Amino acid sequence: MKLAYARGPPIAVFAGSWKCTVSPIDGTPIALGEPFGDCEPDIDRLISIATTVRIIKQMGVKVFISRELGEDEVDAAYAGGADGVLEELSFSRDEYRDGVQFVLFQPADPVELVNRVREIAQRHKKPFDVLVATSFENAKVFAPYVDGVVLTGGWVGVELTRIDHLPEVGRCVHCGMDFLMYGNSLKRCVYCGRRLIKVITSTRPPRSKAVFRSVFKQYVNVNRLRFKVV
Ligand SMILES: [Zn+2]
Repeated sequence: MKLAYARGPPIAVFAGSWKCTVSPIDGTPIALGEPFGDCEPDIDRLISIATTVRIIKQMGVKVFISRELGEDEVDAAYAGGADGVLEELSFSRDEYRDGVQFVLFQPADPVELVNRVREIAQRHKKPFDVLVATSFENAKVFAPYVDGVVLTGGWVGVELTRIDHLPEVGRCVHCGMDFLMYGNSLKRCVYCGRRLIKVITSTRPPRSKAVFRSVFKQYVNVNRLRFKVV
């Protein structure tokens, strides 16, 4: 099914190329309103997870997810820039345990959290990083007080819509501009002259954490993205 990104944050992160015949590469940002691929319609959940992870990472904290989410969902989170899965961390819950790197809390609010962290520090006098398990909505509340967030759900809303025609999309990362080639075909950006990157492709890089990371890094500084019809 040919799809466009119809409703959600100004920039979403594409994930789930394995459910598509043509699509962006996993981890590629897509602009609100933009056509992006020929995919199974339930891909909205994967795009939503990837987009949520990117938004939380922009708050300056690490993002982890649980393996219990499922394989597709974990890969989507990596496409959004996730730092790892909870089950692979050295951590304890609510209390410091000898040698762990992280202590995971599930507090009601930041006041409860910071006082709990100090109490544990006083008792053990050992270093640890603070993680909070929380939903997308509450992650914003805790982000200024923690090293990392374990996202438990409540993903950002992403809606897709069915479209008839999938144009070629050429991207200038420098200008934050996608050219939707309904009429003319372009090779270079009309503003800066740089060569355009083809966004929608049948290329399928390996589905690995390292590949997801490198694509995420390539686009980490893209903070604005709009499209122009040519
Ligand atoms: Zn340009």
